[in-house]
Amino acid sequence: MPSKSTDVVRSLDTRLTHGGSHPLENQGFVNPQVVHASTVLFPDVATMLSGKSKYTYGRRGTPTSDALAEAVVNLEGAAGAVLCPSGLNAVSVALLSCLKAGDHLLMIDTVYGPGRQVCDNVLARFGVEVEYYDPALGGAVETLFRANTKAVYTEVPGSLTFEMMDIPAVVEAARRHDVLVLMDNTWATPVFFRPLEHGVDLSIQAATKYVVGHSDAMLGTVAANERTWKALHATHGYMGIHVGPDDVYLGLRGLRTMGVRLRHHMKSALELARWLESHPLVARVRHPGLESDPGHTLWKRDFDGASGLFAFDLKEGFSVEQTHAFVEALSLFGLGYSWGGFESLALPVRLKGQRTATKPGELASVRLHVGLEDVNDLKADLERGFAAIAD
Ligand SMILES: *Cc1c(COP(=O)(O)O)cnc(C)c1O
Repeated sequence: MPSKSTDVVRSLDTRLTHGGSHPLENQGFVNPQVVHASTVLFPDVATMLSGKSKYTYGRRGTPTSDALAEAVVNLEGAAGAVLCPSGLNAVSVALLSCLKAGDHLLMIDTVYGPGRQVCDNVLARFGVEVEYYDPALGGAVETLFRANTKAVYTEVPGSLTFEMMDIPAVVEAARRHDVLVLMDNTWATPVFFRPLEHGVDLSIQAATKYVVGHSDAMLGTVAANERTWKALHATHGYMGIHVGPDDVYLGLRGLRTMGVRLRHHMKSALELARWLESHPLVARVRHPGLESDPGHTLWKRDFDGASGLFAFDLKEGFSVEQTHAFVEALSLFGLGYSWGGFESLALPVRLKGQRTATKPGELASVRLHVGLEDVNDLKADLERGFAAIAD
């Protein structure tokens, strides 16, 4: 895993296109080789024992994994980055790299559901005290700090309900108490928000979503600053985490076009969000890019854009069951987990068992991932959903 990219820092699109790419060290080929490997041979025992070889064993890195990790380092402005076999694994290894028994973790209440399970079922078992907090606290999360608080974990905007949070205020409070800040930045991706530039210590990406971008592989990344890189790299190594070269390659391939894809996702999603906002059956659209959204000011101040994922609530009187009928009436929007691929998806929002610090109740809400289809076709598809529930 490379630390400290030697590439000059360039503008974002150029970093996306060239980060981690060294064609002239690769016989001129534009893309790295997909190296399938466990064993790496050494010429003699002295070399083997020197610890100075760039490659020693498949699990510890190959030219393929280095290319993607270096691209991530370059993109996030990190001291180092690790690759993980899924986004959830990236969440776990980031947490395990900085916590120990007796530590107190402040976890955002709107965290991606399975992230809550890691905390409640794994961290708790190893003696980490997990406390959930309301993202509306912003920098006032500081009032929950204890002597043993080690880290604050954020995910912005919140999973399913899309609340914004004041990240710079959290970072400022955390710094005062020598507390680490972790952020799941899957929604914005480094294209629209770069956590480390804002003082976050560990930046997590479910690369399965927009980095891979084609719903055909699972991958996670964690990028670290100077403060956290050593422990992250060590923990990732101790745990034997490794990603197969074909999936790494798909991640790198997706990364090259992530900027253009995201801008298209953003444009179509904003157009649909505005259209939904004025729809007679819609009570509220949860998209921080909309002027009407409570998080809009923070989003505008800190983020450079929005991806294709947002939600809307049906007018009062509509039931959760009607959100089921709505998504089942759609044909272009598929019904399935995950998001970030080229295709549109719709999901009835289900908050049951997902929140403990905030009490949002059950919402008649639908989450949309707006894909790369023609936006008018998507609008027509959503009209089919509304037709199915209106009578
Ligand atoms: C999907 C997702 C994850 C988990 O990623 P997987 O690759 O599915 O394990 C983590 N965080 C967020 C915000 C996600 O959307």
